[in-house]
Amino acid sequence: MTEWTTESEYVLAFSAAHWTGAAPQPGAPTIAVEVDGTFESTPGEECGVFGVYAPGQDAAHIISFGLFALQHRGQESAGIAASDGQTITVFKDMGLVSQVFNETTLAALPGHLGIGHTRYSTSGSTVWENAQPAYRQVEHTGIALGHNGNLTNTVELATRIGDDASTTDSMLMLDAVAGAIHDGRSDGRQLERALTKVLPLLDGAFSLVVMDQGHLVGVRDPHGYRPLCLGSLPEGGWVLASETAALDLVGAAFVREIEAGEMVVIDAGGVRSQHPFADVDPRLCIFEFVYFARPDSNLYGQNVHGARQRMGRRLATEAPIEADVVVPVPESGIPAAQGFSAESNIPYADGLVKNRYVGRTFIEPTQMLRDRGIRLKLNPIPENLDGKRIVLVDDSIVRGTTTRQLVKMVREAGAVEVHLRISSPPYRWPCYYGMDTSDSSRLLAAQLSVDEIREFLDADSLAYLSLDGLEQAAGGENLGFCNACLSGSYPTPVGEQGDKFVLEKR
Ligand code: SF4
Repeated sequence: MTEWTTESEYVLAFSAAHWTGAAPQPGAPTIAVEVDGTFESTPGEECGVFGVYAPGQDAAHIISFGLFALQHRGQESAGIAASDGQTITVFKDMGLVSQVFNETTLAALPGHLGIGHTRYSTSGSTVWENAQPAYRQVEHTGIALGHNGNLTNTVELATRIGDDASTTDSMLMLDAVAGAIHDGRSDGRQLERALTKVLPLLDGAFSLVVMDQGHLVGVRDPHGYRPLCLGSLPEGGWVLASETAALDLVGAAFVREIEAGEMVVIDAGGVRSQHPFADVDPRLCIFEFVYFARPDSNLYGQNVHGARQRMGRRLATEAPIEADVVVPVPESGIPAAQGFSAESNIPYADGLVKNRYVGRTFIEPTQMLRDRGIRLKLNPIPENLDGKRIVLVDDSIVRGTTTRQLVKMVREAGAVEVHLRISSPPYRWPCYYGMDTSDSSRLLAAQLSVDEIREFLDADSLAYLSLDGLEQAAGGENLGFCNACLSGSYPTPVGEQGDKFVLEKR
């Protein structure tokens, strides 16, 4: 059963039926259920954005493939807005890209221009109405927006524009743009002029794809916390994507990264670049290199997998240890373990197997399954661990619950020593720019010293990569990184709790 409206927030009744058996309602309950604590100890991912301007081609199909490549950045919802030059149609739903889109739904999204989004909620609840692209209609102009990042001045912005209804920073941003769209001119550039007015009012992290009926716009905030790149399609046209790996998947050639503080407008005239922000200070999130980005993506011209291997090499020189095998925590620890092994000449071995198909589930686990804990996601290979001194390598420790279970599991599989090596510094400060660890009381390293953490995790030794080592591995600090969660040094002012929590409590 499908009910469509175009050029307005649509309602797709069958989609909501997956979860509630009824049409989506404001304030509907959070639908994602974690199997266990396994996922609590990894940084929450953010969102993926994708945009296409491809005359004569089917944008929605291209976008759907781009979203598959960006699935790792958000698994809670997916959506596409497409335009045929006259009408914008939006389709979004809770779930994975493969659950949301099929030939039928894509066929209902005609047009050569569009944007797509995969969401992990770092602002606003995990409900259907907060899925993106978000859409507003202002007279004859439709505007759709997809956002990766978090604003840090949402309350101030809401007060300024008199918005007391938006439940996410992304919707607030869209409302601000919609409010600025009237300028008395009808030359087709209303959207870019509205953005030029609104963008300087925003603080925090925002990589955006925005569209009206005839234009695709890409924006990166003046610090460029979240990535965004431009590609060209072989049959003509342009692509915007959070990561270069998404360009590969749709056969687009990498053109360049959108610069921090840059806005690109893509239409029949080609690509126009504008710089609407007064001050630009590139601070790409260093955690994109550590964890968020796909290993086959490039950031700042560096391949992410190669950077992660260099982190492991540097870790081996900073924190050497005598051991028999280097074992990664799959999959996040694999490249760093490879680098550690190569640098230390300690053999690399797979000691843990990941069940790739667990992910987020909507099945409430029984107590028996909860008791199995981490084995739902990772299981040991005792033959590679028994009687051995293990260097266990992972990319980060956030809350430590998973790591503690892992150490226990590796010991139970016969390891005689477990030496933990972490390829990033201790994560001590909350992130307000798009990662979901926002409360320092939930960060292990904010509560305990390194030795206390080692004791809590029951490891024989524990060492983290230095911040300098991390930045060198990612290409050098001169490139410009945000490392606030590792250093406490925030590039922009943030409130004690950040604005993102306040928005929903108004
Ligand atoms: S605080 Fe940490 S996770 Fe957040 S943007 Fe900065 S480096 Fe990335």
